[in-house]
Amino acid sequence: MSERILEIENLTVSFDGFKALNNLNFSMEKGELRTIIGPNGAGKTTFLDIITGKVKPTIGQVRFKGRNLRSLAEHQIARLGIGRKFQTPRVYLNLTPRENLELSCTRNKGVFANLLGHASVTEKHKVEELIQTIGLEAKSEIKAGLLSHGEKQWLEIGMLVAQSPDLLLVDEPVAGLTDEETELTGELLISLAETHSVIVIEHDMEFVRQIARKVTVLHEGSVLCEGSIDEVQNDRRVIEVYLGQQEDSHEEA
Ligand code: ADP
Ligand code: MG
Repeated sequence: MSERILEIENLTVSFDGFKALNNLNFSMEKGELRTIIGPNGAGKTTFLDIITGKVKPTIGQVRFKGRNLRSLAEHQIARLGIGRKFQTPRVYLNLTPRENLELSCTRNKGVFANLLGHASVTEKHKVEELIQTIGLEAKSEIKAGLLSHGEKQWLEIGMLVAQSPDLLLVDEPVAGLTDEETELTGELLISLAETHSVIVIEHDMEFVRQIARKVTVLHEGSVLCEGSIDEVQNDRRVIEVYLGQQEDSHEEA
């Protein structure tokens, strides 16, 4: 039987009366790779904020692995197994990718292991595997500050995975990347989805097409529709609210 990793029921988030999320319902099975799209201001970032506990629901609830997150603080929710990748990479620029990954692997286990510089054999093995997964074999010993923007993104994704989250939240991972980096990021997310549940917030339609299994469209704080990329791209409501706006933003650019 399939198992729900995330369930959101009748969720409303008000900021001084303005509903950034409005009676939103959402659920996702364990092991899914889900893409969330929607025009600017649709509530995408707020949606991630309520999953991580940064913002608390005004009404409604969020359940992760069956557990209501209402009374938990952000760090407690992270410890339950939710990892978030922000838009700008947060890596230690003066450390190498290998050192960054070693720190993330040992972070769960208290400061002593870190201070003594003792990475266990299992951790070393895990770091090796991660370096391969994120494609940084040739650059594992140079300072992370010298990596390209895309490589830093992959390193940060690797650092999240090092903490073994059950659910990975990724906000606009290809903004500012080259076409080749974008494609490699898609491959990376698809391969991570073999062993994790993943939510990707994305604007870039071509990228969504590359990775998407099931797509959820947000609009004015609610789910407008869900389905395959073809289904949502052909949905008249989506064309009106989302694609219309995308054309506008192309014109501006
Ligand atoms: P998206 O990520 O889809 O562009 P957001 O979740 O950032 O949308 O924002 C949804 C709406 O909520 C926007 O209209 C935004 O201005 C508003 N909003 C977000 N955070 C706050 C806040 N802390 N206070 C007031 N309004 C907010
Ligand atoms: Mg946003």
